Amino acid sequence: MKVTLYGAAGEVTGSAYLVETGRARVLVDFGLFQGHGKAEKKNRVPAGLRARGLDAVLITHAHLDHVGRLPLLVPAGYRGPIYAHEVTAELAGLVLRDSAKVQAHDVARLNRKRMRAGKPLLQPLYGEAEVNAVLELFRPVDYGVWTEVAPGVRARWVNAGHMLGSGSIELVAETAGGLRRVVFSGDVGPPGLALVPDPEEPAPGQVVFLESTYGDRDNKSPAETLAEFRAIIESAVEQKARVLVPAFAIGRTQQILYHLDELFCAGVVKPFPVYLDSPMAIEATGIYARHPDLFDAEARALQRACELVRTHRHVIPCPTPEDSMRLNDAPGPCLIMAGSGMCTGGRILHHLKHGLWRPETVVMFVGYQVEGSLGRRLVDGARRVRIFGEEIAVRARIHTLNGFSAHAGQSALLRWLEPLTRVGPRVVLTHGEPRGRQPLAEQIERRFGLEVLQPEFGETVEW
Ligand code: ZN
Repeated sequence: MKVTLYGAAGEVTGSAYLVETGRARVLVDFGLFQGHGKAEKKNRVPAGLRARGLDAVLITHAHLDHVGRLPLLVPAGYRGPIYAHEVTAELAGLVLRDSAKVQAHDVARLNRKRMRAGKPLLQPLYGEAEVNAVLELFRPVDYGVWTEVAPGVRARWVNAGHMLGSGSIELVAETAGGLRRVVFSGDVGPPGLALVPDPEEPAPGQVVFLESTYGDRDNKSPAETLAEFRAIIESAVEQKARVLVPAFAIGRTQQILYHLDELFCAGVVKPFPVYLDSPMAIEATGIYARHPDLFDAEARALQRACELVRTHRHVIPCPTPEDSMRLNDAPGPCLIMAGSGMCTGGRILHHLKHGLWRPETVVMFVGYQVEGSLGRRLVDGARRVRIFGEEIAVRARIHTLNGFSAHAGQSALLRWLEPLTRVGPRVVLTHGEPRGRQPLAEQIERRFGLEVLQPEFGETVEW
């Protein structure tokens, strides 16, 4: 059995694992590389993958860095099944259509410059046609059910508690050397993440591929983060503030809506208008709402107990740009959630331009802000920023909540791994920068005495 890494090796994007058993070739995840410069060049079907010769593709969850290269498979000749949880299939449709739209937009902008410079024009990686073609290939699977995915290869998804529909994948393959078992953690959620259940325990395998995004640290506990969240909302309501939340459309947005529901239903604050200013967030929230059976016990109990949550009267969708513009006159208290999560584009920029210079505005960051983004400059305390070429003074109150991450921290990753250590597996750390995976590797070696590998792009693990 051989597994070759075609992404997320020493970095956090581009997840892709090629599994070869001698009888079958299976791809696990096929995510987009994100970031600047070199990332773009890596977004292709690697030569060694031979898409035409694949038997199946398995997907852990619907984030772009796990599904974003899938539309490249069809033009490369792949027509086989793509197995994923039903919700992952639905959310992947949203994510991939958005990705095609963003690419079309970015390429058009670059091409205007290239045309003026007399340079050859660029093509987007894929468009809507490729997205639609690849969505046809999805086959839904349920948690806990073994599926024969390729000749001699069975797979089972267990809940990874990272987003709705997310799973870790167990794979059992018949090879010339006997049965081989391998576990792909996918992205593992922290215990106590809102809406989704805590991660389930997969059955042990001889090799475990484990994510290491936060392998170097523990994030703040959900309880501490919620206390901060509550304090910010209470003070905003008291001051009739307008709260701006730059948020990612899938996962984080629904988490924040849920925490607001908790406050409203417990009577901590009176319900106020919550504007969902993102077509993608509106759709994703709709998909979440159609699958309450996948929520954790707390979320289901809240739904049963609270009329407000069932009717969602306080949540006001703003699908069109005109809806968004009208929010400039919306009085406080209110909360506006808009993308992008790091303020690198999207409707949040308009709200920031309109609100940052006013002391009565509150900006609440609920996700990681990458170096160089407008979000990062605000979090770092910039007194002036440029938005759409205009200099804006920052007088708004800026809050950063770091504890809403959908990734397990170091302790939780070690706890997730512990039941799998009985059979003394080899552990392969992926989906983490060196600063995340090196400290995690040391912990795993020290605590469990296991062999830990940290492969690079294109390396193969064989057993
Ligand atoms: Zn993820």
